[in-house]
Amino acid sequence: MAEQPDAQQPLTERVVIVTGGAGFVGSHLVDRLVERGDRVVVVDNVVTGTWDNLAHLGDRIERVEADVSQGLALDTLGDRAPDTVYGVCHLASPASPPAYLALPVETLMVGSEGTRHALEVARQRGGRFLLASTSEIYGDPEVHPQPETYLGNVNAIGPRGCYDEAKRFAEAMTMAYARTHGVSVRIARLFNTYGPRLRAEDGRVVSNLLTQAMENRPMSIYGDGTQTRSFGYVDDTVDGLLRLLDSDVQMPVNLGTPTEFSILELVEAVRRVTGTTAEVVHLELPTDDPTQRQPDIGRAKELLGWKPEVTLIDGLHRYADWLSAQTA
Ligand code: NAD
Ligand code: UDP
Repeated sequence: MAEQPDAQQPLTERVVIVTGGAGFVGSHLVDRLVERGDRVVVVDNVVTGTWDNLAHLGDRIERVEADVSQGLALDTLGDRAPDTVYGVCHLASPASPPAYLALPVETLMVGSEGTRHALEVARQRGGRFLLASTSEIYGDPEVHPQPETYLGNVNAIGPRGCYDEAKRFAEAMTMAYARTHGVSVRIARLFNTYGPRLRAEDGRVVSNLLTQAMENRPMSIYGDGTQTRSFGYVDDTVDGLLRLLDSDVQMPVNLGTPTEFSILELVEAVRRVTGTTAEVVHLELPTDDPTQRQPDIGRAKELLGWKPEVTLIDGLHRYADWLSAQTA
């Protein structure tokens, strides 16, 4: 295994590979890495992302269009392929329920083979590895709020199993590489994140409700709307990812907002931000939809000095501004 570059290495020499970097969270992470002077290679097959998210960076980053379940295809960079890397951040995966329900096999493959390929790059080129895992690890939790020590309550054979089990496998593979090959690993368990570049048609609840409200269309509530989620603004999430990447914390860390909202309360927040008069419509609750979700962020606070800063109302305003600019 090549020597592990550390956080003190001069920035100009640091290469970070971001799989899924053309997606919503990934593109914000790429922005922050470029801002601080890292050389960034993005590997993405744009199945749910778009290179438009990175268009403003021009030739300041390198792009590889590849399905990471087949490999990261770094050889396509020729002489520019990095021999050593500071980090491999593995974010590639469909993440929205409609996207992973439409691509269940691909989702399982990117969580399994894709994760193994990304770990191999970290092993061979000496970098630390960061996995974007998820609160879905906890399934429909029976412990509330959820600390990282909670082992979860996942239905492997239900429709959401393709995503939940892909991420659980990805975490297991990550730990196997740490134990077997000594790869320095980080696991971020992200809770629901929203903000600019979350596509209007992504299908997740914040993008759905906000676009419906802004267009004065009925706001879709699945089930009775009493189920809860914790919504994090993307800048906070990415700040947590960077702190984790640069840290020595080799255990899973929850990154989410410890304030919990029911979907009915989210609708009220969206009404406040948009001033919409749109009605609500209740649609069928999807199978295995978790009833509650709230992170225990004690570990992130203590080990990373991290906590979210952006309130739901502020975040919704910023996201609504971005959505308006897209249609202007
Ligand atoms: P996204 O769909 O916007 O981004 C995912 C990116 O991965 C896209 O650009 C997509 O094209 C790419 N991708 C998917 N499969 C690929 C493959 N086989 N090869 C190469 N690229 C591939 O989703 P997001 O919300 O930005 O999520 C990013 C990561 O964070 C995902 O791993 C997701 O599971 C995780 N996560 C996100 C949230 C959230 O609320 N946004 C919550 C928990 C976990
Ligand atoms: N949801 C909703 N209306 C929508 C989309 C989703 O009420 O238009 C609900 C969904 O059933 C779930 C919650 O909002 O209870 C969060 O859904 P999302 O798809 O954003 O993410 P999840 O946490 O389920 O992965």
